[in-house]
Amino acid sequence: MSLRELGITMDMVGPCAAESREQVLQSGAEAKKRGFLIVRSSVIKPRTRPSWDGIGVEIGARWLSESAEINNIIPATEVIDGHDAEVMINAMDKIRGKKRLVLWIGSRNQVHKLQQEIGSAVSGVDWVDVGIKNPMGADKEHWLGAVDHVIHGGASKDQLFMIHRGFKPGGRGCRNLPNWKMMEEVRKESGLPMVADPSHMGGSREKVMRIINQIWRMQNKGLVRVEGLMVEIHPTPEDAATDKGQQFSWNLYDQKLKKGMERWRESHRLPILV
Ligand code: PEP
Ligand code: MN
Repeated sequence: MSLRELGITMDMVGPCAAESREQVLQSGAEAKKRGFLIVRSSVIKPRTRPSWDGIGVEIGARWLSESAEINNIIPATEVIDGHDAEVMINAMDKIRGKKRLVLWIGSRNQVHKLQQEIGSAVSGVDWVDVGIKNPMGADKEHWLGAVDHVIHGGASKDQLFMIHRGFKPGGRGCRNLPNWKMMEEVRKESGLPMVADPSHMGGSREKVMRIINQIWRMQNKGLVRVEGLMVEIHPTPEDAATDKGQQFSWNLYDQKLKKGMERWRESHRLPILV
C-alpha cells in the first residue's frame, strides 16, 4: 500500500542533511511531537562544487533506521543509485517497528540508468515510496520520463509520487522558480500525487513562508493540488552543513510556519496523523 492509499499526509519535514546521530534522532523526535510522520534528511548531498557531500549511505541508513524505530516515524532520504536504495531498504528491514520508507530521486540525478536501478531496487518492496523531483531545468519530458524509467526498472506506479522543487535559473527572489502550470500538467499527465518543496524553491525562510501561503491560496481556488509539503527544519540551522539560509529551527517553525502549514493542510482536508 502506498502512502496515498494509506491516507498518510505527505508532509516531509526535517533537516537538509543528516549530520550526526544525535541530530537525526532529535529531528525525528521534534517532528513527531508536532504530528509529522515523515522526516526527511539527506545522507548523500549532490553538490555544485566539491565539498562535504553527506555522511554517506552506510552510516546514514543506520541513523535513519534508528530514528524510525525510536521515534516511530517514516524516514525520507535521497538516493542516487540502486546500491543506495538497497542499503536503505536493508537497514529498514532490520527494524522491529513498522517498516515504511520514503526515497527520492534528486533534481541533479537525470541519468536514466540510475533511475532504472532505483526502480529495480524497490521492485516488490511495497513499503517503500519513491518521490521524483523535477529536473534542474524546466523540462517536462525529462520529469515525466523519469517516471517511465523507474517503472521500467521494476517499480510499481503505486509506489511513486512527484516533487516540485522549482527550476533553475531562479527569479522573482526564488532560488528555484516554481512553475505551477507545469506542476499541474505533470500531476495530471502522470496521475501521481504531487508534493511541493517550498524550501528549495524559496532558498530563504521568508520566501518559504510566502510560497506556502501562495500554495494555500491557489489550492483554495482549485488552481493546484498538492498532497504534501517538503520543508527543511534543522535543530540548529545556524550550524547546518548545507542550506543554512532556508532551514527553520523548531522554535521558528512553531512561531512562523506552523500556522501556514496547518492552514494549508486544512485547505487540503486531510487529517494530521500522529
Ligand atoms: C534536497 O532535498 O535537499 C535537495 C538537495 O534537493 P534538490 O535535489 O531539489 O536540489
Ligand atoms: Mn537542502
